[in-house]
Amino acid sequence: MSTSKRLAPFGVTIFTEMSALAVEHDAINLGQGFPNWDGADFVKRAAITSITEGGHDQYPPMPGILELRTALADHYGPMLGRGIDPDTEVTVTSGCTEALVAAFLGLVDRGDEVVLIEPFYDAYPADVALAGGTPRFVTLRPPKFALDLDALASVFNPATRAIVVNNPHNPTGRVLTDEELTAIAGLCVEYDVIAICDEVYEEMTYGAIHRRMASYPGMWERTLTLSSLGKTFSLTGWKVGWAIGAPPLTRGLRSAHQFLTFTTATPVQHGAVAALDAPQAFYDQMRDDYRGKRDLLSAGLSDNGFEVFTPEGTYFLMASHPQANDDRAFCRRLVTEAGVAAIPPSVFYGDPSRGPGLVRFAFCKDEDTLQEAIDRISRLA
Ligand code: PMP
Ligand code: GLN
Repeated sequence: MSTSKRLAPFGVTIFTEMSALAVEHDAINLGQGFPNWDGADFVKRAAITSITEGGHDQYPPMPGILELRTALADHYGPMLGRGIDPDTEVTVTSGCTEALVAAFLGLVDRGDEVVLIEPFYDAYPADVALAGGTPRFVTLRPPKFALDLDALASVFNPATRAIVVNNPHNPTGRVLTDEELTAIAGLCVEYDVIAICDEVYEEMTYGAIHRRMASYPGMWERTLTLSSLGKTFSLTGWKVGWAIGAPPLTRGLRSAHQFLTFTTATPVQHGAVAALDAPQAFYDQMRDDYRGKRDLLSAGLSDNGFEVFTPEGTYFLMASHPQANDDRAFCRRLVTEAGVAAIPPSVFYGDPSRGPGLVRFAFCKDEDTLQEAIDRISRLA
């Protein structure tokens, strides 16, 4: 009675492991990326109204309520430079996590190769395994974590079916340049490859321009743009995500989505409609707040023996420390001795020995909490 051979190698996720350790040691959790404040009231009120007004208690449509698909089409159309059809090009999912696995199961066949840029978000290789595909890794290396375009080109071949492009990038905080995206797009067109673009940190950039893969020449036909409510609206627990892509890609994704979850809870979809109506000031404020938190944590870590690789996006930062060569052991010490949980990024590599001995910290916490974490770390130092 054991776990399937496909999934057994993945064990328990690092986020579950570190959050449990954080609770056990009463630690400040700068590991798993979730804010320590609530989502916006105007979004919560819309979900509450959806429950109390009645008429929304039975199954919503399989691809999501039309109101939300229309709001998503209106929101992304201008950014992708085209009109988007809510009926055939937008699907609401249970978080980006479900959009990812639906994309893999619906579009990748046994034996297909999938290019993963490492360090990667941990769901990707598990999703490739679920689909029966084979991962091919391209490594981002510090200090710049730039994409090695020759290494990238060398993994593309006729068996390549898809590449995952996470931009802005967790865990490095990189925002890919026009040159990098152009190179990826060129290879996708040349080898007829699908780009599964995980853009959950799309609104968290601190000066760098976030460019959309789906708007590159030849890429609309072969790009799925995935995102969710969780990061932008501080609602990671609501699990509302979406996938936007040309009809054939959407059909593939929905072919899996209809059997994975079929659909997503209605009240949170109504909340998402309200969220997408947020004014520009909401996004500007969020960015300013996160930039301040990034700078606060970066300075505190730098004062305490870490070298910080300043992120251009996301709410994570990577830092090195003279004692962090074994990042798992170091993170264990941080949580047990200092009372601060972080993530050892070596788990985000196909072969953990390629991990460069860094630590990933999440800075989506209020300033007092970040300061307390810095104070605790200083006592360890
Ligand atoms: N992709 C990335 C890169 C992430 O960091 C996360 C984080 N949680 C997800 C996907 C999952 O998104 P969701 O919570 O919407 O399922
Ligand atoms: N995306 C979050 C992170 O990278 C965690 C998501 C999860 O817990 N699976 O920290």
